[in-house]
Amino acid sequence: MKFTPEIYNIPDKPQKPYIDVDEIWGYLNNAKPTDNRVEEIVTKSLNKERLNLEEVATLIKADKPGQIELIKNGARQLKERVYGKRIVLFAPLYVGNLCQNNCEYCGFKATNSETVRKTLDKAELINNVEALEKNGQKRLILVYGEHPKYTPDYIADNVKTVYGVKTGNGEIRRVNINAAPLSIEGFKTVKDAGIGTYQVFQETYEPEAYRRYHKGGRKSAYDNRLVALDRAQEAGLDDVGIGVLFGLADWRFDVMGLVRHTNHLEACYNVGPHTISFPRLQDAAEFKVDPEYAVSDDEFTRIVAILRLAVPYTGMILTAREPMHIRKEVLQYGVSQIDAGTKIEMGAYTEEEKKPQDLNQEQFLINDDRSLGEVINELLEGDYLPSFCTACYRKGRTGEHFMEFSVPGFIKRFCTPNAILTLAEYIMDYAKEDTAIKGWKLIDKNVSSLNEPKLEASVKMKIDRIKQGQRDLYY
Ligand code: SAM
Ligand code: SF4
Repeated sequence: MKFTPEIYNIPDKPQKPYIDVDEIWGYLNNAKPTDNRVEEIVTKSLNKERLNLEEVATLIKADKPGQIELIKNGARQLKERVYGKRIVLFAPLYVGNLCQNNCEYCGFKATNSETVRKTLDKAELINNVEALEKNGQKRLILVYGEHPKYTPDYIADNVKTVYGVKTGNGEIRRVNINAAPLSIEGFKTVKDAGIGTYQVFQETYEPEAYRRYHKGGRKSAYDNRLVALDRAQEAGLDDVGIGVLFGLADWRFDVMGLVRHTNHLEACYNVGPHTISFPRLQDAAEFKVDPEYAVSDDEFTRIVAILRLAVPYTGMILTAREPMHIRKEVLQYGVSQIDAGTKIEMGAYTEEEKKPQDLNQEQFLINDDRSLGEVINELLEGDYLPSFCTACYRKGRTGEHFMEFSVPGFIKRFCTPNAILTLAEYIMDYAKEDTAIKGWKLIDKNVSSLNEPKLEASVKMKIDRIKQGQRDLYY
């Protein structure tokens, strides 16, 4: 996919900052969201075209109920037409919460002396991965504070350890990372360990707010963080995830920031972000954030729909920070990945019993602590197809999110069959009886909707092989 760069006050250059505050406010202040214009923009996105900053600003400023409905319906249609009903599942694994930064919103900040500091040792890491595998997880994201101990070699070593853990039929097939930004050399090291996506969230693109909430520590350097993922690209790690922590600054500015960042990556590297994350602020120990910019549920659901339309090719991640009813609503607007069975207390996956959340042990509070089994059950009831697929990444089909978006038939040939096969494995190895019944029914429905006799026969044959005990079959 080739992208046509836009012209900005600050032209895009690799490793050079690209946010111009006045320019972004200029787009927002001059936006004219008439009903016709909103409809035109939604139609452009439904034709699978990337929206420019002027168009995104117009959607952001469109706040009449009818216009919001148009935007949400557009996102719903785009999701259904382009991506279908698959939802990819993963779990976060917090490896270490030592941190030298002082992000005012985060329970791990250096000044928080009450937090129980911990880094999983090798045995604990293995035990936690085994516990996750025993629940049926196949995809993890390893999460770290920022500390000299968490070097690229250390992270790479953790990744290799995780890939090496096998429990019965269980194994982790994709490890993503959310940690401090690295140097080009550092990104090379973690890439060589076989990671999937490397996520670095800007938190807020609004420089004043950024400075207010990040005093001291390496993370206080706004520009350095802005181009952190350029360094990943320079290292050949083109699978990167961007994100905003909504609630730190005006959400309108930050949605524009995410799109401007996407444009920057497209202009410099001809590849946009693999995923966009949009966490909302949650309560944390010694939480010090002005509530002025808190994002309401209504605004949050609009944000998800606007981002879906703005960058139609990218993966969109929603986490257990959000309660079930919000998760349910925004799944319709184009979220493609969610975590499930999430525990964010260090090392907690080995504990059988659910414990009350404790702000001195966790980075922040989560609002959805259902088990993987419960989430899968609910997805099946909503006619969603849960997927643990890791095929593209392992087959070297990098840029799969572009392919599933732009290559006709890609989803039918690869994504749906692989979702079906990974769900079949899950049912055979981990599902409760009622989930299994619902799961096989949904599999049958999805196999017949492939509507291509040869492919259907091939998928059915692979399902039979899974029933006979074979694993890890994919296209
Ligand atoms: N320490 C690394 C960093 O800051 O880049 C790794 C990521 S941190 C452990 C993961 C993410 O959690 C942060 O990027 C931030 O967006 C999010 N986060 C921190 N405090 C939060 C809070 N109170 N509520 C919701 N999300 C929060
Ligand atoms: Fe440390 Fe990351 Fe928390 Fe900031 S968000 S205090 S860098 S763990």
